[in-house]
Amino acid sequence: MDFTKAKRNLERNGFEVHVFKTGTEAAAHLNEELNDVSIGFGGSKTLDQLGLYESLSEHNDVYWHWRQDADYAREKSMNTDIYMSSANGLAETGEIIFVDGNGNRAASILWGHKKLILVVGSNKLAPDYTMAVARCRNVACTMRNADFPGQPACVKAGTVGTRCFDCKSKNRQCKAMVTLWQPMNGTPCEVILIDEELGY
Ligand code: SF4
Repeated sequence: MDFTKAKRNLERNGFEVHVFKTGTEAAAHLNEELNDVSIGFGGSKTLDQLGLYESLSEHNDVYWHWRQDADYAREKSMNTDIYMSSANGLAETGEIIFVDGNGNRAASILWGHKKLILVVGSNKLAPDYTMAVARCRNVACTMRNADFPGQPACVKAGTVGTRCFDCKSKNRQCKAMVTLWQPMNGTPCEVILIDEELGY
């Protein structure tokens, strides 16, 4: 994957960008960068696949509702030094998009931390903003819903990974979408781009 265009446009928008060939190299970078700080994790298959909770917990205070009591971890994650997540879509034109069901991840991406770190695999990239939004809805949202009981339209129709019907199911896990055009005021954002397919 050629990240040249995405890196250039993200940097033009004020993001700090690092590119790695492998998740192993990216994890090593993060473990070198982060020491003795508090870190909140958003729900993320990417972070899980890279084993970041386990490695970073050895030398930081890490809170993650996928590993700890969910309510406790969500509350602690709201006030950590660092917040870490992946993204659901990244446009090569420089925008980063997230979809959320409970809202804790979306809230922390927007506010409350000294720094935001986003870890993004090559499968999240799309050529422009419109296609990145389409990727979020048709791929990421449908796959997220398949992980939960409730059977909204995309799961019932068997279009997980390919098509969202914009259903009105109250059980859907795709309740809000957030776009970062630039880092929020006062919260620098580091984007880690990895040349591997990670998460959804
Ligand atoms: S809006 Fe409905 S159909 Fe679309 S991804 Fe969400 S649950 Fe599936």
